[in-house]
Amino acid sequence: RAKAVGRRTSMRYDAAMDLDVQRRATLSAALRTVLDRNELSMVYQPRLSLNGGHIAGVEALLRWHSPEHGQIHPTQFIPLTEENGMILEIGQWALREACRALATWRSAGLMDIPIAVNVSSLQLLRGDFPQVVERVLAQTGIPANRLELELTESVLMDNPAESSVSLQQFRRLGVNLAIDDFGTGYSSLSYLKRLPITMLKIDKEFIDDLPRDTDDAAITTTIIAMGHSLGLTVVAEGVETASQAQWLRDHRCDEIQGYWLAEPMPAESIAQFVQARSWAETTAS
Ligand code: C2E
Ligand code: MG
Ligand code: MG
Ligand code: MG
Repeated sequence: RAKAVGRRTSMRYDAAMDLDVQRRATLSAALRTVLDRNELSMVYQPRLSLNGGHIAGVEALLRWHSPEHGQIHPTQFIPLTEENGMILEIGQWALREACRALATWRSAGLMDIPIAVNVSSLQLLRGDFPQVVERVLAQTGIPANRLELELTESVLMDNPAESSVSLQQFRRLGVNLAIDDFGTGYSSLSYLKRLPITMLKIDKEFIDDLPRDTDDAAITTTIIAMGHSLGLTVVAEGVETASQAQWLRDHRCDEIQGYWLAEPMPAESIAQFVQARSWAETTAS
């Protein structure tokens, strides 16, 4: 398994590296005006609870449609916004947009489940980020326990002291914290135990070849057991098949997210999706 080992020991794959220098410069410049030109939008992907069968939350994901450059994938443009600093403004826009969407769903009585927002390391390392989040929650009227922030391992490992201060502030507010792409970084048990996180999201890389791949099955089983021993909710990302879902249920994974359940969708569709699911659940029981 040289392929997997190589990937797992290197830094997380940065799709922006595939772009040539000219294209990177062009897109980076275009990103400076995306907010003024209204080129960003959010889509939402649900997570299913394997215990209750209900929708446990939705993750907000950025989309960029540029009239000049077409649809650009987040794995390509997020790294560029981290280089040119636009991630601070764009990240805040994404957070506000997601909270606004939830506020709309709540007031219309459509759904009231946690919303997950991805946070870049640059945002987290800004000392004022907890205040930014607190302000957005106050402005949109969203209770802190309806918000989940998804962080990656690398920022927590590279800046343990700084990130730990912010994390404690979030927990005091009541905001939930997830580690995204778990297993791809340099996770260690001791840091997991020290950080006030509430959820682990197992990276799709370990889910892809389940249930057939015995290495991935062993790794996933271990992550689930470890997460549970620390009192964390364990989520599998990128679940695409019924047999993956069944295996994860048999192995006590708490929640799944992936195309098997649903692809990310616009705000209007997700509210309908969640309603239809909870209706089916009520009538089935
Ligand atoms: P992520 O946070 O790990 O999000 C999961 C990604 O996997 C999403 O890609 C989602 O569309 C995709 N996905 C979900 N289920 C499946 C599946 O069954 N099969 C496959 N092949 N893919 C699946 P997306 O939306 O392209 O986002 C990619 C990454 O970009 C995210 O990974 C996240 O790291 C970053 N990102 C997206 N939105 C934001 C944002 O608002 N802020 C920040 N800082 N990063 C973001
Ligand atoms: Mg995420
Ligand atoms: Mg992920
Ligand atoms: Mg694999």
